[in-house]
Amino acid sequence: MTKTELNKYRQVLETKLGELSHAVRDREGIVIEKSPDALDEVQHAAERELAIRNLDRESHLLRNVRAALRRMNEGAYGVCLHCEEDINPKRLNAVPWAPFCIDCQELADRNRDQDSEMFEELMVA
Ligand SMILES: [Zn+2]
Repeated sequence: MTKTELNKYRQVLETKLGELSHAVRDREGIVIEKSPDALDEVQHAAERELAIRNLDRESHLLRNVRAALRRMNEGAYGVCLHCEEDINPKRLNAVPWAPFCIDCQELADRNRDQDSEMFEELMVA
């Protein structure tokens, strides 16, 4: 990968990191917000539920984006964490924080409900 390409991905990742940090912070506010009014409380519960789901997804994404930036600093960006092959540039363009190549990602998705500890460890590493 050339320096220009790397810089392009870095820019995308840093922008995403900024957006996500913001979104996650905002949502944490919604999640802890409590109302004394019972009717309000029902409304809030629904909002909270949605916020928690989004927060989950965004936190997960945020972790992936941070990990990708870390790999970039370590000079290991764009390499699959599982099989250590280069990740297809098309995939990186679509998902710049992708930790795995397409094949390994599919494997990870398939194994998510089963024994996916290996992948989980790689994801947070
Ligand atoms: Zn792979």
